[in-house]
Amino acid sequence: MNLKNILGLLLLVAGVGVAAESRPLVIAHRGASGYLPEHTLAAKAYAHALGADFLEQDLVLTKDDVPVVLHDIYLDTVTDVAMRFPERKRADGRFYALDLTLVELKQLRVTERFNAKTGAPVFAGRFPAGQAEFRVSTLEEELQLIQGLNRSTGRSVGIYPEIKQPQWHRAQGHDISKIVLPLLARYGYATKNDACFLQCFEEAEVKRIRRELGWQGHLVMLIEASAQGADGTNFTTMCTPAGLRELAKVADGIGPSLGRIATWTDKGEAKISNLVSDAHAAGLVVHAYTIRVDELPKRCPSAVALHIALFTMAGIDGVFTDFTDVTRAWLLAPHAGAPARLK
Ligand code: CA
Repeated sequence: MNLKNILGLLLLVAGVGVAAESRPLVIAHRGASGYLPEHTLAAKAYAHALGADFLEQDLVLTKDDVPVVLHDIYLDTVTDVAMRFPERKRADGRFYALDLTLVELKQLRVTERFNAKTGAPVFAGRFPAGQAEFRVSTLEEELQLIQGLNRSTGRSVGIYPEIKQPQWHRAQGHDISKIVLPLLARYGYATKNDACFLQCFEEAEVKRIRRELGWQGHLVMLIEASAQGADGTNFTTMCTPAGLRELAKVADGIGPSLGRIATWTDKGEAKISNLVSDAHAAGLVVHAYTIRVDELPKRCPSAVALHIALFTMAGIDGVFTDFTDVTRAWLLAPHAGAPARLK
């Protein structure tokens, strides 16, 4: 064993983590959302401690244009908004973050994701509903938490912000990208040397972020399972070799839904599409979403089989996972035997 190998082993043992280029990235999807309510500071701190390389932030705006970390433009599936601000319900029956100021939003309690109609938890085995106290956090609060943890632990965990529904925000009179980009720059995320991937599902906005708003950092085009996005993005065309080459003019990578990479037969055998190899040929990295060991893809026989299909067979460069510890354990020692959650 040479000196480099010994050093690598020591780093591994110390839990410092492996250099990003040596293995795929573990991106904590909404934080350690398998264990704590999504996008809470507690979920982010826990994912940091579990060894994530990047922590994800989904971003929407408040009425007073403050970017907050929430997965949906709606509030009624992760907070008690319906009880605290019943009069804010729109005609469609939903409650929107954009209809509350930050001061109002801060009065809400955040809980594990639930069905707004039935009140039932979306993931029955996860953190109990209504237990402990969690609040909505601003992007700034979360960046301060992550940078603080990076300092106190000596690690350098990156961020992975997503601009949520920019077309809808603009139709409502709020330009979310124009507000988020300068804030990221203020916290040191502006170039490809900075540990940040900016992501979005809308093709027009990805182009605008690069060409009009001058974003010079990493940029990832998210790709839905469906053929077309609500904003008109044509994912079928985008996923052809020519479409990927065109996308590579503005983006550094794609973030496709798992089903676009691997599907399973009735016998439980994985079938791998050409998407990853086509994306690599176009010079794009591939960060797929989402590994959930408590909700495996259709017919996928086990969490181990899922990790093998994505990493060993398809060769993706990173993954959004609800279970940072499980994915990290598999990547560091895929043949060492499965941790309990992988069985
Ligand atoms: Ca997201």
